[in-house]
Amino acid sequence: MITNTSMNWMRRTKIIATLGPATDEPAALRSVLEAGVDVVRLNFSHGTPEQHLRRANLVRQFAEELGRHIGILVDLQGPKIRIARFSGDRKIQLEPGAPFAIDPALPADSGDDTQVGCCYEELPTDVKAGDSLLLNDGLIELEVESVKGSRVACRVVIGGELSNHKGINKKGGGLSASALTDKDRADILTAVEIGADYLAISFPRTADDVREARSLLRKAGGDAAIVSKIERAEALHPGVIEEIIDVSDAIMVARGDLGVEIGDAQLPWVQKQLIGMARARNRVVITATQMMESMIQNPQPTRAEVFDVANAVIDGTDAVMLSAETASGRFPDRAVAAMDRVCLEAEKHPRARQSDHRIDEHFHRIDEAIAMSAMYAANHTKVCAIGALTETGSTPLWMSRISSGIPIFALTPHERTCRKVALFRGVYPISFHHDTSDHAELNRAIVEQLMALGVAKPDDLVILTKGDLTGVKGGTNAMKIARISEVLAAAPQRSETG
Ligand code: PGA
Ligand code: MN
Repeated sequence: MITNTSMNWMRRTKIIATLGPATDEPAALRSVLEAGVDVVRLNFSHGTPEQHLRRANLVRQFAEELGRHIGILVDLQGPKIRIARFSGDRKIQLEPGAPFAIDPALPADSGDDTQVGCCYEELPTDVKAGDSLLLNDGLIELEVESVKGSRVACRVVIGGELSNHKGINKKGGGLSASALTDKDRADILTAVEIGADYLAISFPRTADDVREARSLLRKAGGDAAIVSKIERAEALHPGVIEEIIDVSDAIMVARGDLGVEIGDAQLPWVQKQLIGMARARNRVVITATQMMESMIQNPQPTRAEVFDVANAVIDGTDAVMLSAETASGRFPDRAVAAMDRVCLEAEKHPRARQSDHRIDEHFHRIDEAIAMSAMYAANHTKVCAIGALTETGSTPLWMSRISSGIPIFALTPHERTCRKVALFRGVYPISFHHDTSDHAELNRAIVEQLMALGVAKPDDLVILTKGDLTGVKGGTNAMKIARISEVLAAAPQRSETG
């Protein structure tokens, strides 16, 4: 059975697009997906469970029609600490030097020019005189002058317009709300109902926050992979970040909130370090926020945005993410197309393809050793592709931690594995069902898939990895380097293809 012929296996870096009002028209969603989205993000900071379910169903329907495997990532809102509301839902203007207080004891809808409520009761115990509070993603800065009872009295340092429910961060981190709110717990049930492939946890402070999320997900019957959004200063502390990465399947460099906590100038190096750490620990990494921000309004990215996406690719990210650009922007499909084009070009540079990763390491597992050997062989031989038979996606994950220009095809009978590996850099899912245990026939079936995709020609070399028995987790124990024409000659022509 030949599937996925519409797959774009030229681009290695994956694109995540956030869905929202701008993609709710079916035609708009379809053209965004067609422009090259690998994974969609449902942002639970906005919208209702019904809206998210509807979006997920439509994505599944179009993916099927387009012959593609598109993953679904549910992003939990998390404990973003926010101010309450202003009376009459008005906006206020804060002037530098003016006093302004935040007080969780105030009624929720009573804010005015001098004070506002806050949903987070512990605010007065988490801050002290001299701290800087950043509102509205850092646009407004307040300095805490005193804390009396529940009232946090501040002075405006950088003023600006302030409206209902804007977020509050403390410079340097340390606002310590627990990572999973009651809303998140309810939303995990919706994520399970949707059948999410990835679940993103917002603002985890420690590995325990991530473990708790995973156990709630499991109890609810979900098996999504867990993405930890790195967006708190505390999460970056030495020892903490390593453990967070290890208990997660993927991390997100959540540059919006992280930049507010640690300062925007710190972000570029932190991004490079996080990408390097995630890959070295065999985890997937997403680079997110404001990548094509000006395309919310404009049909073209700025030069700086082109560089940002390209630099993330060169840093080694698995995926780049669009937020408001696709969720509420004017040009959602063009934003995806711009990312696609910039990624493709950036990947041509040798620095985006070469690797010295794990050159001195010992491997403890046979399947891991095969994956590493395959990449070493692939990067030092002229092979057209790697075909990895996989149950869970582990073999292509290990492979894709090594930079390379060779496409890795993950052949699996499991739709969930297809959608999971859709996020891995340089890995392309193929639904692969076979009913033979004869290896010559199996090899032929794999090679026919690669030929149908236009990846392989008769004279090309290919690397295949698999186990003695298929259908066994962790069973990969063999690597074959073979010429396509010889694989075809070794097995009799099957009566039906198609
Ligand atoms: P958000 O997370 O879009 O949910 O805030 C990403 C970020 O903070 O960068
Ligand atoms: Mn965030």
